[in-house]
Amino acid sequence: MWIDTHCHWDAAELHAVAAQRREVARARGVALAVVPAVSKSTWLACRSWAQQHGDVYALGIHPLFVADADFGDLDALEAELEAHQHDPRLVAVGEIGLDGFVDPPYSGAAWDKQWRFFVAQLKLAKRFGLPVVLHVRSAVDAVLKGLRQVGVEAGIAHAFNGSDAQAQAIARQGLVMGFGGACTFDAARRLRHLAATLPAEQIVMETDGPDIPPQWLYVTKDARSAGQPQGLNASDELPAIARVVADLRGVDTSAWAQQTTANACRALPRMKVWIDEHAS
Ligand SMILES: [Zn+2]
Repeated sequence: MWIDTHCHWDAAELHAVAAQRREVARARGVALAVVPAVSKSTWLACRSWAQQHGDVYALGIHPLFVADADFGDLDALEAELEAHQHDPRLVAVGEIGLDGFVDPPYSGAAWDKQWRFFVAQLKLAKRFGLPVVLHVRSAVDAVLKGLRQVGVEAGIAHAFNGSDAQAQAIARQGLVMGFGGACTFDAARRLRHLAATLPAEQIVMETDGPDIPPQWLYVTKDARSAGQPQGLNASDELPAIARVVADLRGVDTSAWAQQTTANACRALPRMKVWIDEHAS
């Protein structure tokens, strides 16, 4: 059994194929996917997806969607978490975090707004006793600062791509790290080194569908400008991606499935309850 700890099943790109590909994923052993929201307008779709497809979801405002968000959306998030706090499918606050690709990075109005949304959502996670699903791009140290400041000590740093020292700091803070399609590229040497060497209990598997396609779905920029669409990533790719990581680590695939499922359940305790009560 596998868990895809990060897939945007509600994304528009997946609409036409989502139901069918979710079935393929299930047939390949992906029992559960975590569907993180990215903005207020996606909260309902994430919850509906989870209800209709036996998955779980997270509610939050993604750093890349903060620019278009209103501070009132934070009040709306609080009300939404309050209203659904007893929903067993609601397993985390996410996707929240910081993205260092804003211009300018680490200072200025755009960064400041990201930071304020991040800290406010960390406080909501703490208040509702939920772990976090984190987007951390070129911002590991700033994310750690926020986690320490608010005292959030559970969750997943999704699509992790930091240094060995930053990985250790994330683990010391009590979080696990998500690895996905990026590990399937031979050129991703530092990331593959991390995936191969981190302690086994610190890793969860994810696809980040429809984004970050594995190497076998990747369409180059040139091919895309010539009209070939990017391959669509989703939870049905999770076992193949996880097999690459298992091979990098020299471990048996089924043992890796067991290990990473246990890690995901530890990182998202309500998901464990959900699995014990509902998943077959
Ligand atoms: Zn995401």
